[in-house]
Amino acid sequence: MFFDYHVHSSFSNDCGYPMEDVILDAIDQGIEELAFADHVDYGLYDDWDCPNPHLNYDGDPALNVDYPAYFMELERMRAAYGSRIRIAAGLEFGIQTHTIPRYEKLFSAWPLDFVLLSVHQVGDLEFWYPDNPFMAGRAQQEYNDEYYEELYRCVCGFKNYSVLAHMDLIRRYDPAGPFPTERNRDIIAAILEQVIADGKGIEANTSGYRYGMGDLSPATDIIQLYRDLGGTVITVGSDSHRPEHLGSRVRETYDLLRSIGFRSIATFERMEPAFHAL
Ligand SMILES: [Zn+2]
Ligand SMILES: [Zn+2]
Repeated sequence: MFFDYHVHSSFSNDCGYPMEDVILDAIDQGIEELAFADHVDYGLYDDWDCPNPHLNYDGDPALNVDYPAYFMELERMRAAYGSRIRIAAGLEFGIQTHTIPRYEKLFSAWPLDFVLLSVHQVGDLEFWYPDNPFMAGRAQQEYNDEYYEELYRCVCGFKNYSVLAHMDLIRRYDPAGPFPTERNRDIIAAILEQVIADGKGIEANTSGYRYGMGDLSPATDIIQLYRDLGGTVITVGSDSHRPEHLGSRVRETYDLLRSIGFRSIATFERMEPAFHAL
């Protein structure tokens, strides 16, 4: 079993790795299924047909996936390589409470297999900008609380997703260092309980290792909490943006998940999970 369930292609604004190259490299590695999850971040990013798009901090137009071209290329890839690898049509929704209506519209317009729900910004403030406008000058408890409260509101108000991506993303960008899970335990548990009640899942994102976190994202203690609360739906993805990321640490993560009580890994087709025994 080898599925990389979170990969980016050059349809993402921050990625130059062509979809066909991702697929050929995945076949070389023995990956059996890929889920493309290219970026959509309403609030700060505009759709490809917007005449006056927002600009990134570096002055480039901030654009979401060109959906017609994306789905056309996915079809071309399935026709060419479908006998050698399964390809799930996914998107990564960088959602905020005020952008939920735009995601509802997007979700109803395209035939998606898989949706990652991410919080990449709060109040249209990016975590990854060099001056970190969301966190600068604030107390660590305050912005961590606000991040998880926004995620909680999103999982309560939006149901057209498959799994929560890198649920503790804020840790990666925290200038004060990783904030202990314990300090946000109640809200994290409330989010996970909502996810479980809705029949959704979480992702174990292996990029935490390459970002120097020394752990998955979310951290293993959060994944363990999800399991302890009764969660069973979990995907594993590298969040690759470059060839050297593809498939990274996915199979060893299966071993870790088995050791903490998971019995299967999920894949998705037309938003329905399939379970593969660990
Ligand atoms: Zn993300
Ligand atoms: Zn991603």
